[in-house]
Amino acid sequence: MLDADFFRRWITATAALVERDAERLTALDSPIGDADHGSNLQRGFRAVTAALEKEAPGTPGALLVLAGRQLVSTVGGASGPLYGTLLRRTGKALGEAAEVSEGQLAEALRTGVEAVMTLGGAVPGDKTMIDALVPAVDALGDSFAAARAAAEQGAEATTPMRARKGRASYLGERSIGHQDPGATSAALLVAALAEAHGE
Ligand code: ADP
Ligand code: MG
Ligand code: MG
Repeated sequence: MLDADFFRRWITATAALVERDAERLTALDSPIGDADHGSNLQRGFRAVTAALEKEAPGTPGALLVLAGRQLVSTVGGASGPLYGTLLRRTGKALGEAAEVSEGQLAEALRTGVEAVMTLGGAVPGDKTMIDALVPAVDALGDSFAAARAAAEQGAEATTPMRARKGRASYLGERSIGHQDPGATSAALLVAALAEAHGE
């Protein structure tokens, strides 16, 4: 079973990976965006970490809702409301339980990813974070390590895609040949999940 401390470790591990890779994320956002994805997430996850140090919610659901709210209120770019929605809706789906099973987490994450698709209108193949998140959720039934591998493959698979959502879509064909920054950061979120699970 996964308790609030597991979720705290997931989110702080994500924050650490964002710090480690902030420059790479911003560099990926340079040719097909406005070169701020790393700094956007750095600002967001620093705020999340500070909020969790001040107040550590006692349930998985409340912890994810708090983290999601911080992202929405501190990240100006498209990724803030999208990641914020992912965490808030996943948290809401987990309800008020003190501990949840791996299966419940997989189900709740699917709800969260579907909410991101509803909010942003992206479907798989549009060269967005969805291209890492959907395969990860599909693989989570097997294992956390399988989800991490699926997210990484999903992020790499965005390179030949033409962007249909977000800033990169303004480039049309010229968006082809670059890995999507948001799919890359989504793979970090999933890698942190596997890390928190000891995989
Ligand atoms: P901005 O584009 O506002 O500067 P960021 O650079 O922080 O925001 O985030 C860009 C990332 O957000 C993209 O690489 C993409 O993965 C994701 N993204 C943008 N628009 C959408 C959307 N409508 N649906 C899903 N993901 C999106
Ligand atoms: Mg950007
Ligand atoms: Mg921006």
